[in-house]
Amino acid sequence: MALPEVPSIDRLQRRLQATDYSRWRSMVEATGGCAHPVRLSGHWMITDKTTGTVLTSPDGNPAMRSGHLFAPCGNRRESVCPACSDRYAADAFHLVRAGMTGGTKGVPDTVADKPRLFVTLTAPSFGPVHNRRTSANGKQVPCRCGRYHHEHDPAIGQPIDAAAYDYTGHVLWQAHAGKLWNRFTIYLRRHLARAAGISVKEFKDHARLSYAKVAEFQRRGIIHFHAVIRLDGPEGASDATPTWATPELLTDAIHAAHAATAVEAPEIGGRDRLLVWGEQIDIRPIRAVDADQVEDDHGTITDDRLSSYVAKYATKGTGKSEAADRPIRSREHIELLTASEHHKQIMRTAWDLGDLEELDGLNLRRWCHMLAFRGHFLSKSQRYSTTFKQIRGDRQTWRLEQNLDELGVTADSIAVVNNWEMTGVGHHSPEEKELALAIAERKRQARQDRYANERKD
Ligand SMILES: [Zn+2]
Ligand SMILES: [Zn+2]
Repeated sequence: MALPEVPSIDRLQRRLQATDYSRWRSMVEATGGCAHPVRLSGHWMITDKTTGTVLTSPDGNPAMRSGHLFAPCGNRRESVCPACSDRYAADAFHLVRAGMTGGTKGVPDTVADKPRLFVTLTAPSFGPVHNRRTSANGKQVPCRCGRYHHEHDPAIGQPIDAAAYDYTGHVLWQAHAGKLWNRFTIYLRRHLARAAGISVKEFKDHARLSYAKVAEFQRRGIIHFHAVIRLDGPEGASDATPTWATPELLTDAIHAAHAATAVEAPEIGGRDRLLVWGEQIDIRPIRAVDADQVEDDHGTITDDRLSSYVAKYATKGTGKSEAADRPIRSREHIELLTASEHHKQIMRTAWDLGDLEELDGLNLRRWCHMLAFRGHFLSKSQRYSTTFKQIRGDRQTWRLEQNLDELGVTADSIAVVNNWEMTGVGHHSPEEKELALAIAERKRQARQDRYANERKD
């Protein structure tokens, strides 16, 4: 096996001194320091909409550029591209926060007065695993194996008896997690309707369930869902929530829906399985960050802090600790991965189950590298807040406006002509990649500093 190329100081030096360095650097800067940019070749120009002539920049040159461009790879996994996963986390933060506090992205700030809860739904057990346990009074108690585990002990999350662990159940549950969530929301609407004394059919004329949720991998290789659940009026965030929809009613309905949700898994090895949530459920009221800081109810959480959590989960779930970055190509491929024996066994099980006709629809081999989790790490209901697309669009519009300002024109009077073709993917050398990662790291630092200022709690 060839060793990965490592950057050489000499060649780094040469890259830095090359005549095209500043041009190259600004291209990398524009991607935020993407580790695997898509390389494009072509041209863009800004023309007058009516005459079709190319506009002139203040420096006297035509407003057109031909040559090369980098586009960010957009990968959300930190282990693949720190820059793009960082930007995803930042977008996730804004998306989640807009739906909680409002006042931005077209969401009114009255959403902060609506019933809002932060809910964690867990997976059931498929066999005891090593863990750190604390008793009710906060004292650490030994793991079932009799030992006390350090928090970084790699044994945590691994089964105590691997031979008795229900890997098939684990994989089937994970593969149906999205479906379980869908069922949960259906039951939730049903319980809310019942409590309000209306029919399920009428529910949508009275209220709307809005949510954003993230999937977070636990060390045992199975996900939790963390969700912000909000009750709106029928039209969504800007519509008044009906008066019967109190946080207490929402809490009770969540408990009832949690207990009622079940999905029947296809029969495997002569065994039927009913897939349900784990018993552990956590429901916390969300407190507006500006609310009076009078001694806080036990367990409430401010919306700003919560947005940060959620953004962190959204990329942590895709981080380097879990499984593989890319789809698995063969069963042998699994053995070559640097993953724990437990994670490998989950993947082997997913790979083998992927061969069964009755599980065809699950596409398990495609999702084997994600330990059979087939969903998105962050998803939201339609009217929760803004969309990633909208946030990205805002960013592009803003960049374009900056350019247009320099030209002294407005977006209505011009046409932007873009004509680009992909010529390749990734940096040309390990030195270039190294420099790009350094740019990404510096941007990450700057963004973190900005967050620290932006957050109010
Ligand atoms: Zn990237
Ligand atoms: Zn143990």
